[in-house]
Amino acid sequence: MPLNGLHLLLTYQCTMECDHCFVWSGPAAHGTMSLANIRHILRQAEELGGIEWIYFEGGEPFLFYARLLTGVRLAVRKGFRVGLVTNAYWGTGVEEARWALRPFRGLVSDLSVSSDLYHGDAVEARYAENTRAAAAELGIPCSILSVAQPEDARAAKRVGQLPPGTSAVMYRGRAAVRLAGRAPTVPWSTLRRCPYENLRDPSRVHINPEGTVQLCQGISLGNVFETPLREIIRAYDPEAHPIVGPLLKGGPVALTRTYGLTHRARYADACQLCYEARRSLRRRFWSILGPDPLYGIV
Ligand code: SF4
Repeated sequence: MPLNGLHLLLTYQCTMECDHCFVWSGPAAHGTMSLANIRHILRQAEELGGIEWIYFEGGEPFLFYARLLTGVRLAVRKGFRVGLVTNAYWGTGVEEARWALRPFRGLVSDLSVSSDLYHGDAVEARYAENTRAAAAELGIPCSILSVAQPEDARAAKRVGQLPPGTSAVMYRGRAAVRLAGRAPTVPWSTLRRCPYENLRDPSRVHINPEGTVQLCQGISLGNVFETPLREIIRAYDPEAHPIVGPLLKGGPVALTRTYGLTHRARYADACQLCYEARRSLRRRFWSILGPDPLYGIV
């Protein structure tokens, strides 16, 4: 597995409750990584080898500012490059954004700011622009990420980590429940591959506050607080994995057929069918299909 990035979900908590959020974040969400857990994960990343990037994201990681800054410093000290993903709720002016970002100067190699209609109106968009201006002054590379509305058929589908610019919605997590009804649909039988993640050879995985290593949000490979990351990655056998194996063979259609699940005639995309199939398989594969927050259970 050419894994070179770990994305640490510092917290499920967020200032906003966006309809397109994969991880069901919001003000009422619970679960945050402790500093001890961040240290533990960074040590495991070193032992694993090959990891170049550590991203801190959420939820909204700036809600836990001291923990975030300390985690970033620790990661840089260990030689990792660091990225942050934020909604920049704190960028209420360029001066405030400069104040919040100054301690990260020289430490952060990629600052991604989410800004689109899910994240509010012109006021929130201004916060993102203030943050971009402050980052430019401080020499912190910064880009704006935005996700299109479901009705926008021109938005590009992106693979893996969202790049700068506007991307199409992926209908997993809260988006599968709240947004799929507004999207154009396709026949279920066409959804024969996973369009967004490299499930066989992922270049990055997410690690959630409770320690689960997520291949795609809601598909866990193990828990770094129970098993060393190196062993989890070494033991990963995509074809033999009860969820990934069928997905590799024939996408969410094969997953649905393998376990004889009922389905509807049409879906917004492969992720919606995949997410619904996995939700109905949770009792059977509870240690793989979790944790609860990723299926909307607070
Ligand atoms: S099809 Fe399934 S595994 Fe692939 S990106 Fe969508 S939700 Fe994730």
